[in-house]
Amino acid sequence: MSNGNLSRRKLLERSIQLPLGGLLLAGATAAQAADAGKVCVDLAHMDSGAKSIRDSLKYVEKAADPKQSCGTCGFFEAKGDGCGNCMIFTGPASATGHCDSWSAKS
Ligand code: SF4
Repeated sequence: MSNGNLSRRKLLERSIQLPLGGLLLAGATAAQAADAGKVCVDLAHMDSGAKSIRDSLKYVEKAADPKQSCGTCGFFEAKGDGCGNCMIFTGPASATGHCDSWSAKS
C-alpha cells in the first residue's frame, strides 16, 4: 500500500515538474532569441517610403552604443518582447536598435 502511494506521489511530482521544466526551457529559449539578435523590423516587406526614412536616419537593429539604443529612446514604445514601435517611423523598431533621431527618455 505504501509503495502504491509512493509511486503515485512520484508520478504526481513528475507530472508537475515536466511542465515547469518546459516553461523554464521556453523562457530560456526566448531570452536566448533576444540575445541572439532578434529581428524586429522586416525590411523585405516594408514599402520604399518607409525604407527611405529609415535609411536617411541610419536605422540599425543593433546600436553601436547600447546606452543609446531604442529601448532608452523617448520615441520608443516597448511591446515587451524585445521589439516595439518607433514614433518617428510610426512602425516597428528593436529595443536594441538605433537611429540618428535617438533622444533620451525624459
Ligand atoms: S527615434 Fe530612432 S532611436 Fe528612437 S526609437 Fe525610433 S528608431 Fe529607435
